[in-house]
Amino acid sequence: MFVWLRNHPLWTAVTIGAGTMITFKYIRDKIRNSNQEILDIMIFNELSGKCDSGHPKKEALNCPNKYCSKRHIQRIVQQIDQAVYSIDIAIYTFTTIEILEAFYRALDRGVTIRVISDPEMLSSTGSKVLSLKSSGVEIRMPETTALMHHKFLVIDGGARVKSLLRVKDGRKKPTCVVGAVFYGSANWTAQGFKGNWENCVLSSDKLLTNRFQAEFDRMWTSFKRY
Ligand SMILES: [Zn+2]
Repeated sequence: MFVWLRNHPLWTAVTIGAGTMITFKYIRDKIRNSNQEILDIMIFNELSGKCDSGHPKKEALNCPNKYCSKRHIQRIVQQIDQAVYSIDIAIYTFTTIEILEAFYRALDRGVTIRVISDPEMLSSTGSKVLSLKSSGVEIRMPETTALMHHKFLVIDGGARVKSLLRVKDGRKKPTCVVGAVFYGSANWTAQGFKGNWENCVLSSDKLLTNRFQAEFDRMWTSFKRY
């Protein structure tokens, strides 16, 4: 029965059809992935803490309050959770536990994390920068009294991924990843996310991502290892 079916012209047609569909889906997914556009503009204001006890953290992404602090934090976490190769962080101060946990998960996946921070703020109350250092993350800082006042992170920046692929065996990971940058006025703290009037942008725009990545790389070269 099976031999008969296998020799039937219809079988050949079905096999070719299925093969074509699988190939088409693979190529389509590749193209979609490479063109996936991310743009999220996050405004933090007096309404950001309004639904603090209104919904569980996991449902925050669907929160109708467009200023919701929990929603914004979960959106950042969601993007960090998609990092494949690298996360480069330049942050004045950072205390948000959800973001720290997302960085830990990234480290567990083999993502390389680098941190640039400010020497004055390093030992401030609740700072999580040293928690990352304890997990083996390299920290660098400027040697001047001028503030390292940036608040941004770059996920899978093009130049960084290329340099990591040169030194790592990346065969088990996809070579086609979506780079993204998260930047804005807010420190990643309770005050920044639901106490102040702040703004942040999450974007996969290549020009933005590459420009922030280039500045991170430039600072990384000139700053001192902590
Ligand atoms: Zn909410």
